[in-house]
Amino acid sequence: MFASINPYTQKTIRTYRADNASTIERKLKQADRAFADWSALSIRGRADYLRKVGQYLTDNNQRYGELITAEMGKTLKEAIGEVDKCATTCTFYADQAETFLTDQRIDSDAQTSFITYQPLGPVLAIMPWNFPFWQVMRFAIPGLIAGNVGLLKHAPNVFGCSLAIDEAFRACGLPAGVFQSLLVDVPAVDGLLSDKRVKAVTLTGSGRAGASVASIAGREIKKSVLELGGSDALIVLADADLDKAAEVAVKSRMQNAGQSCIAAKRFILERSIKKPFTERLLHQISQIKQGDPLDNSTTMGPMARLDLADAIERQYKATLAKGAKRLAGGERNQCNVQPMLLDKVKPGMAAFDEETFGPLAVLVEAKDEKEAIRLANQSDFGLGSAIWTQDLDRADRLARQIQAGSVFVNGLMRSDARVPFGGIKQSGFGRELSEAGIKEFVNIKTIWVE
Ligand code: NDP
Repeated sequence: MFASINPYTQKTIRTYRADNASTIERKLKQADRAFADWSALSIRGRADYLRKVGQYLTDNNQRYGELITAEMGKTLKEAIGEVDKCATTCTFYADQAETFLTDQRIDSDAQTSFITYQPLGPVLAIMPWNFPFWQVMRFAIPGLIAGNVGLLKHAPNVFGCSLAIDEAFRACGLPAGVFQSLLVDVPAVDGLLSDKRVKAVTLTGSGRAGASVASIAGREIKKSVLELGGSDALIVLADADLDKAAEVAVKSRMQNAGQSCIAAKRFILERSIKKPFTERLLHQISQIKQGDPLDNSTTMGPMARLDLADAIERQYKATLAKGAKRLAGGERNQCNVQPMLLDKVKPGMAAFDEETFGPLAVLVEAKDEKEAIRLANQSDFGLGSAIWTQDLDRADRLARQIQAGSVFVNGLMRSDARVPFGGIKQSGFGRELSEAGIKEFVNIKTIWVE
């Protein structure tokens, strides 16, 4: 049995019985059968279904938003925004997929040579609870339009969202088996990924989960994409617009109660602006209103689970014990964790070295831009990052030096369907979204005619 628990009220919303072996076998059979017909449809035919899904999500954003909020605690406004983002991504891929996947003629000494992009089959998606719709849909929308079928193993605390996504696909008439939730836990993953009918896997989550899944995929010689954690640097240089930078820094770190892989986790500040920037940060943090995530005036809800709140509290205390200085926060009531700000954070402290998945911002001082870049790169992770400076030539030069999958200049680091998303180093491999994302789960086939 799995339980979905409302993190704000700590009440159990619903319990779910795990799929047994025969249910899993039935779903695998159905996925395999569905793939034959689904992949035979034209790209436009499949795109039309996903366009309908986009409309359905928009029509039901309040209902789905409330479910997200109940299961993992983000504010209703954030939750509705998440559903809407899935809807616009449906439209984006429905419009672009034919262009992305059209055959590509190649000049060669053959009579004809071209590349064609063909789907792989059933793809297993292992997904986390922090963006319970978006993480799933950013794989599923391009994956399905490309002609694959999806099998979802979601995090058990958001199984309601998992089944709601199934329902949305069904309501839009997608053939049975094109997308299915599996109500299983981690030990079932090895068997699923070893099954010959499952052709590939994508995972979003921790490094621990990624390493395990990639090793099974390696053993089975199956394609994998890993979107793992991050410890994104947000560099503020002396010539930055400090008001704007402070506002976006706090939003980036504290939205979703700090539970985002691409949150700005280490604020790296050029020494000369550290004091005025810190004052602005403290002001922004003081504006955060915690409380019932269903209440419109709340800007930060609870963390999603007690064990996650325990983890961030442990990292906060360990960092303080190593000599950091508290500027804000430190109180906690179950999953409700006050936004925290720590100063004098350095390499060797938990909040610098590890991913912090909660409302904890830290200040790291750099004497100049060179040291700022060195500190930004002094991380096992390489997901996103941000630079704040008014000198765009300088930003261009520095952005190229940062070891990360994305660098945002003077803006909020975020995922956007139009541009690739993913990391390097311990943040994983492969890309989601954009043309790069839809091409992760296809056979890039060469056809050569002499
Ligand atoms: P996990 O990585 O444990 O969970 C994410 C998904 O992976 C869940 O569906 C989970 O299932 C599954 N999973 C976990 N272990 C394995 C495994 N060995 N093999 C296959 N699947 C697995 O994240 P947590 O929920 O435990 O969060 C812990 C930390 O992970 C966070 O503090 C954060 O650092 C990181 N994280 C990063 C995310 C990101 O967006 N990059 C998202 C979520 C977490 P189950 O829940 O059943 O264990």
